[in-house]
Amino acid sequence: MNIIDFINHFPDEESCEHFLKFYRERTGIYCKTCCAFSKHYWFSGRKFFECSKCRRRTSLKAGTVMECSNLSLHTWFTAFLLMSATKKGFSCLEFQRQLGLSRYETAFNLMHKIRSVMGKRDGIYMLKGMVEYDEAYVETATSKAFKKHLKRGKGSQRQAIVAVAAESTPLEDLDTGKTSRHCGFFKMQVLKNVTAETVEQLVEEAIGKETVLFTDKNQAYVNLESLVGDHIKVKSSEDSANGDLNWVHTAISNLKKNLLGIYHMVSEKYLQNYLGEFVYKLNRRYFWDKLFNRLVVAAIYPYVQHTE
Ligand SMILES: [Zn+2]
Repeated sequence: MNIIDFINHFPDEESCEHFLKFYRERTGIYCKTCCAFSKHYWFSGRKFFECSKCRRRTSLKAGTVMECSNLSLHTWFTAFLLMSATKKGFSCLEFQRQLGLSRYETAFNLMHKIRSVMGKRDGIYMLKGMVEYDEAYVETATSKAFKKHLKRGKGSQRQAIVAVAAESTPLEDLDTGKTSRHCGFFKMQVLKNVTAETVEQLVEEAIGKETVLFTDKNQAYVNLESLVGDHIKVKSSEDSANGDLNWVHTAISNLKKNLLGIYHMVSEKYLQNYLGEFVYKLNRRYFWDKLFNRLVVAAIYPYVQHTE
């Protein structure tokens, strides 16, 4: 959705309510008392849903990422537009300015709530087929006093470890005989360390059991064969354009450029949310015009129930 369409579709609070009601009914409304998706009736005068079984009332925002927020739906919808408008994303200051928010903290929290639902949405999906896997080291912000005591270089405490996995299918050009790799879905997750236990847990949670997994020869990967269909250890070739780990290395390089270009340096505490936004957009690169609607769907998915 471009900005002209947005202005036409969502001129006021009422149009946002209408749209939200439609998508919530289509997704199904979760009743926190019945602990289930149940049939709900809509009360248009007071704008809430009522469970047909227990009569519990659910407001339009309740059970979504907007729950407990004092911001108007119109502000939230404009925030969804901004977060889905560009591939690179906005800095928090720019986001605050565009939304006319008086407090930086409000803009910061709003952006991170939206980033977290982007990440949760992708968390549902398991990678399958052929998958490349590697880790990246991403610079994170630390206070100056703390920084002095830290080691420098790869694996130092100033760098966060990010696991990166990409679906990657080899394609052969029948005329030339050359093979290239076509990429599908990506995943990125902050890791506390690169031990066999941590990596195996991630592979079990994020990568399907029938997968053919490509990694380098790191010692932490010794037991991965038992968790996937096949595990192929390859020589790490960061410089090779068509290497077996080409797509994870391309994604890592783009991630670093993105983080450095817009946010300069991010705090490790929020790094997973930035990864969520980056990967969410990367995975939806072929249906960019539908990103706004998809983001509304992700935002109303009743994740709140899982955290209670
Ligand atoms: Zn109920």
